[in-house]
Amino acid sequence: MDPRVREVIDRSKRVVFFGGAGVSTESNIPDFRSESGLYNAVSKYGQSPETMLSRTFFQNHMETFYDYYKNNLIYREALPNKAHLALAKLEEEGKLTGIVTQNIDGLHQLAGSKTVYELHGSVLRNYCVDCGAFYDLDYIMDPEHCEGNIPKCETCGGIVKPDVVLYEEALDDQVINGAVNAIRNADTLIVGGTSLVVYPAAGLINYFGGKDLILINKSETQYDTRATLVINDSIGKILGE
Ligand SMILES: [Zn+2]
Repeated sequence: MDPRVREVIDRSKRVVFFGGAGVSTESNIPDFRSESGLYNAVSKYGQSPETMLSRTFFQNHMETFYDYYKNNLIYREALPNKAHLALAKLEEEGKLTGIVTQNIDGLHQLAGSKTVYELHGSVLRNYCVDCGAFYDLDYIMDPEHCEGNIPKCETCGGIVKPDVVLYEEALDDQVINGAVNAIRNADTLIVGGTSLVVYPAAGLINYFGGKDLILINKSETQYDTRATLVINDSIGKILGE
């Protein structure tokens, strides 16, 4: 771990980590909001990722939604990187009280983290919209359980929808409250791999009233002036061994 970050953590009691897409890209999960993500979506589907990942599009173009979703948001071979592992270790040490993430890949839990607020849900959880039955990722990816690309409930035949917050959908209240409380009670907030422009990131950061704000991002953010420490580098490199 970078000694500047370690020094702050050593004198902290309640560290919270807030992470964005940059945490996942270092596990080779591309950011669909990036320039190349937009280019790929528009050239293949003629639509932006934001359009295809909206509630309206899900309802009206379900077959295309699932085609895009399965081919662009699911990376089953991805593994936790040094950042995920370092954060899990900090929680085990009793330093870190929670992770707030905008990512939907479940890699923090795979690394061993326990308290994770997934603002945008998780691709690992899927539910039948009619009877509420739970299905894992393997189920919805298996063509045997799908009509075309659309996964169907084996009990009632309903559509199985990922527990991922689509554009136009509200965030889960419980998750938001948990994230707000964690941030409010933190004495150190580490923000990594996000430019803090994606909703609701910027708003949540405003709840932080602790001593040290650390920003680790490859490029500058609008919050740099408020931080005690700004590092423009790879999150895995800075947090890792
Ligand atoms: Zn069902």
